[in-house]
Amino acid sequence: MSIFLVDEYKDMEPYVPGEQPKDKPYIKLNANETSMPPSPKVFEAISKSEIWNMSYYSDPHCHEFRRAVAEIYHVKEEEVFVGNGADEVLSFVLMSFFRRGMKIYFPDITYGFYRTYAKTYGLDMEEIPVKDDFSIDINDYMELDGDIIFANPNNPTGLTIPTADIERLVKRNPNRMVIVDEAYADYSGETCLPLAVKYPNLVVVRTFSKSRNMAGAHIGFAVSSRDIIEDMNKIKFSFNPFNLNSVTMAAGIAAVKDVDYLHNCVTRIVKNRENFQKELESIGFHVIPSKANFVFCYHDAIDSGILCEKLKEEGILTRHFADEKLTKYLRITIGTEQEMDVVLIAIREILDEVRQKQSVKEKKAC
Ligand SMILES: *Cc1c(COP(=O)(O)O)cnc(C)c1O
Repeated sequence: MSIFLVDEYKDMEPYVPGEQPKDKPYIKLNANETSMPPSPKVFEAISKSEIWNMSYYSDPHCHEFRRAVAEIYHVKEEEVFVGNGADEVLSFVLMSFFRRGMKIYFPDITYGFYRTYAKTYGLDMEEIPVKDDFSIDINDYMELDGDIIFANPNNPTGLTIPTADIERLVKRNPNRMVIVDEAYADYSGETCLPLAVKYPNLVVVRTFSKSRNMAGAHIGFAVSSRDIIEDMNKIKFSFNPFNLNSVTMAAGIAAVKDVDYLHNCVTRIVKNRENFQKELESIGFHVIPSKANFVFCYHDAIDSGILCEKLKEEGILTRHFADEKLTKYLRITIGTEQEMDVVLIAIREILDEVRQKQSVKEKKAC
């Protein structure tokens, strides 16, 4: 630590993203990305002329990109904010609407970045415990004295809050901002997007990292009322007007317009998720019924941390969380059919090995 770091940041706990080891090729199922490529339209969009365009600054208003997003989601350009990933978009939300010391509420089991942001922005965060089955009871949020953020579907559980519940919350608390992070909403089929332009206290955040297979491009957007988007743009122009570069925007425009490709990828992942979940259950796993592109599961015969390590030895990355409430579980991203077949073979082998060791031990005990 240098002598220059300001006091507020001295005990900051930066977010730890899923690892990206490069020592050998892995089946990467630890960060909810995918090995499927972006839309073929993206390959076409990043042409030589886009490289020529690099000589000039990109459009800081992101007009063309915002218009394209607006058209696909049936909202107005003025109701769309675009940024460098959902993470940056969320960061602009917090930077724009929260002062140090302000209250923010979120479930105690959710996307780890909310805690990091709350620390970064010096917010007074309160984590509301989820139920024993990891579900969120909207009634716990109805009478709070601060703003609220949810991931819906939630990460790492894959569980959803019904849209009607969120609407009830938003209606009931017109002076509280409700932020809904819909990183996985394409997989659940439920969305609050139409509500975000109906209620002036709701912000919905989306990403291209998961369902559009473009985590490396890092594109996110928010949909909300015109006033909220205008405020966020004001803050953006006071911080980094060129938060999206021209090449990324060209890719984003091509990707968002290819609705069929998105639909095909999502359908494929959802089918793989349902099959994978069934296969896991047939070999004794407990699996939380997920509406996202991952499953959260455990097996009584093996510690999830050990399973995670053994899978890594087999070239498969999954995500194990050290958090007391999560440590029993393993989060496995849903990949292609072939990838999930390989994972199932590896898991079966690991379980067989555990059982053999167990029976040797039992025999020795006799
Ligand atoms: C992956 C994820 C994000 C991050 O999205 P980026 O666009 O890559 O920044 C945000 N929220 C949740 C809940 C996520 O799981």
